[in-house]
Amino acid sequence: MKSLLDLPFHRRFVDALPGDPSTIVAPRQVHGAAYSKVTPSPVSAPSLVGWSSALAGNFGIAAPKAASAELGVLAGNKLAPGMEPYAACYGGHQFGNWAGQLGDGRAITLGEAPDVTGALWEFQLKGAGPTPYSRRADGRAVLRSSIREFVCSEAMFHLGVPTTRALSVVATGEEVMRDMFYDGNPAGEPGAIVCRVSPTFLRFGNFELFASRGERELLRQLADYTLLNFYPKLGVPGPESYLAMFREICARTAVMVAHWMRVGFVHGVMNTDNMSILGLTIDYGPYGWLDDFDPSWTPNTTDLPGRRYCYGRQPSISVWNLAQLARSFAALIPEQVPALQEIIDDYGRLYEEESGKMMSAKLGIARLSGAEDGALFQELSELLQSAETDMTIFFRGLSSVSLQESNPSLPSFLNEALYAPPPAELESRWLAWFSRYQMRVRQDEPDEEVRRRAMNLVNPLYVPRNYLLQEAIEKAEKGDTSGVAELLDLFSRPYTEQEGKERFTARRPDWARDKPGCSTLSCSS
Ligand code: AMP
Ligand code: MG
Repeated sequence: MKSLLDLPFHRRFVDALPGDPSTIVAPRQVHGAAYSKVTPSPVSAPSLVGWSSALAGNFGIAAPKAASAELGVLAGNKLAPGMEPYAACYGGHQFGNWAGQLGDGRAITLGEAPDVTGALWEFQLKGAGPTPYSRRADGRAVLRSSIREFVCSEAMFHLGVPTTRALSVVATGEEVMRDMFYDGNPAGEPGAIVCRVSPTFLRFGNFELFASRGERELLRQLADYTLLNFYPKLGVPGPESYLAMFREICARTAVMVAHWMRVGFVHGVMNTDNMSILGLTIDYGPYGWLDDFDPSWTPNTTDLPGRRYCYGRQPSISVWNLAQLARSFAALIPEQVPALQEIIDDYGRLYEEESGKMMSAKLGIARLSGAEDGALFQELSELLQSAETDMTIFFRGLSSVSLQESNPSLPSFLNEALYAPPPAELESRWLAWFSRYQMRVRQDEPDEEVRRRAMNLVNPLYVPRNYLLQEAIEKAEKGDTSGVAELLDLFSRPYTEQEGKERFTARRPDWARDKPGCSTLSCSS
């Protein structure tokens, strides 16, 4: 089998776009450039914590051995032939406010390599040391957040959610200082580097920064690069194809967010610098998974006051973000402003279309439509919230509801999904809901087995609940990486029942309810 060092690395981005003439790593504003060349900073004792064989298989490469040159590349200690590392220059809106230049403060792209089909993928190290965009921070990442990004990217891929991927996590053997609780008590934590992989890591923010600075030529070059390399079917660069590209970005974003809602994923920091230009889930930080179905839940402690990025607001935030991107496109094609506005105005319909498809599939209904279906769905949403009900367990269990008998008792999976005993009056509402549901489902698919199988393809059995990740992290911090490997393997088949893995299907245990890392997360990663 090949190794990482055998891959022919390309440098499309560096060749196509103007770069920063300065190589000074000190924090600074970078104008007129799409990136700054920067070399990863070496680390003292790299060791492999996690490796995605599934992704490695796409490139036909083997896991790196201890102390090997390949491991050195993944740790930022060595470059493979053809690599021309850089940090990208971008800006963004953070929590609704324009933040100016941000950039890759701790991510360094190494280059692009072909998979076995010949398609090129960008390889990027996260946590590989300072860049001109590091501002006051150190360019490093802690092991806990690196494991979270690694496991969740791969889990999302197998869940069928558009996402960037992750090839490896390498512990650096060095400590980084973090004030995890923002209480003025920073402590040393083990450091790590994730190698993430995506067709591109370009964000809305790359476009926004150039537009905000009036760097129109650079904006055009970036749009051409994106179009030619990632949306080649949309035609040669020009006003029509730029517009078509914007429409496509909207469509992909709608699909991505509808998937998040389907699986119960909350991104936690939907700033425009964390929105991919390809509609991929990007930048796994203080994200979380809904345990009990609470649309106002946000995993991010920084988001707690306003809950801007809570589960239920993700669709509306996605259009807010797209409207910011539309303003950048307006700088590129001012004559197309009305058309851009039309696309934004149509986003709600587009999202509802996607979400309608997915929610129908979750319920085992061919297509939710009309007032009665609307009421059925609304009542379910209210019931799930009236008593703390686990979203994953509930929807997975729903496929087991028998259509034959008119059952006067509640299905047993509902008990397993509840975090607290429900108020007594809820029982009759649930019973009424299940009988309406049975009737409705029978109309579309009378064959129970067919329905069950179809529902089990969209309602996952295993999701990366925060507490499960936290357990694997605590083990890895003590040097035992088996928990990471176990989760990676478990989440590679999230819809398939796996023997001996029953404990991973249970609801969140009580001890994890308010524990940091299990209920909420800080951005200090
Ligand atoms: P995020 O909240 O992760 O999207 O990051 C926002 C900005 O802060 C980006 O420009 C990051 O590159 C930068 N950043 C976050 N953490 C660090 C760090 N430890 N060192 C340098 N830059 C960072
Ligand atoms: Mg980010």
